[in-house]
Amino acid sequence: MNRIYLDDAGSAPLLTEVEAALRDVPGGNPSSPHRIGQRASAALDEARAQLAEMLGCEPHEIIWTSGATEASNLVLHHAARVLPPQAEVWISRTEHPCVLAPAERYFSGRLRELPVGRDGLTDLGWLEKELRRGPPGLLVLMAANNETGVLQPWREAAALCQHAGVPYYCDAAQWLGKLPAQALGTATYLSSSAHKFGGPKGVGFAKCPIDTSPMLLGGGQEEGRRGGTENVPGVLAMMAALNARAARLRQDEQVMREQWRRSFEHKLTAQLPGTEIVGAQAPRLWNTVSALMPEADCQQRWVVKLDRHGCAVSTGSACASGKEAPSHVLLGMGLSAADAGRVLRFSSGWETTPADWDSLLAALNKVAGQMKLGNPA
Ligand code: PLP
Repeated sequence: MNRIYLDDAGSAPLLTEVEAALRDVPGGNPSSPHRIGQRASAALDEARAQLAEMLGCEPHEIIWTSGATEASNLVLHHAARVLPPQAEVWISRTEHPCVLAPAERYFSGRLRELPVGRDGLTDLGWLEKELRRGPPGLLVLMAANNETGVLQPWREAAALCQHAGVPYYCDAAQWLGKLPAQALGTATYLSSSAHKFGGPKGVGFAKCPIDTSPMLLGGGQEEGRRGGTENVPGVLAMMAALNARAARLRQDEQVMREQWRRSFEHKLTAQLPGTEIVGAQAPRLWNTVSALMPEADCQQRWVVKLDRHGCAVSTGSACASGKEAPSHVLLGMGLSAADAGRVLRFSSGWETTPADWDSLLAALNKVAGQMKLGNPA
């Protein structure tokens, strides 16, 4: 069976460019003074300079981490140390759990919720008004949502924060590698993870100030901001993947793929009456479709049945079968728990073709037929 992978938002397949980069990784510990170690250190420096140029920030602001989860923990750990004890953090309920959980740990009782509309967008008008009334110690707003693909107005938020003198943290795990990276570096803090754009799992980075207080204490690596021998192969592989993605972005290849996504959504809602696209009115990533499926007892049933038909898709969140909580993102957008339990996520990659989207449509149609749902064409 021809298998179709539509779960890039979960983890993108490893790129061939990564394998080539891994063949040439210098050995040695980058902290060692001998020439072999220093070659590894120089390779890290070069990667840091490349990434900084891509983002529009200074190389010394980049800290290599084990992924976006460690990076967000580091950012919030640092913010908790430098912000005054009464300072608030403004954050929405639609952030990733790796941002929400440390925010709750470090700023319990000091979190203020950013209003989010039914389309998943944060209310910029509210933000502008409230910043004038009394700014927080930190604003947290992700670039693109992992469950819905909704693109937040992070550039505008960054500008408002800059004007108000408020530090701004942007989780760019779903944006980087899919849309242009320029200006992401205007955020005071930034994080991302390599496996979301075709690099290996277990490596990522944070953009943080030079005086960031370390969360991992150890050998003083990363200018004392993150102890532990750097993952040299991981970092070089991550940059090989990011460079490969950047080349496709320069050719505007994402524009055509957004058309393919729209066409799929159009056909899906026509084919299965009762299906709705979550965040349909908002700007969204070219690869992500969050679909509220017709009534079914559990979204997990769809995932298992579609898998049997050769399509790897995701619920985008925990299954709402009663054992696990419904998606906090969908609840945060105002969906009921029952509706949140009907949502599936289809997230394509750069290699996904219109024929793949059509095969998914055919599989959805078959599964709907098996479930005796809607009115499959
Ligand atoms: N932020 C977002 C938006 C994500 O989608 C993810 C991954 O699911 C993360 C952060 C965490 O990334 P990782 O699990 O690689 O640390």
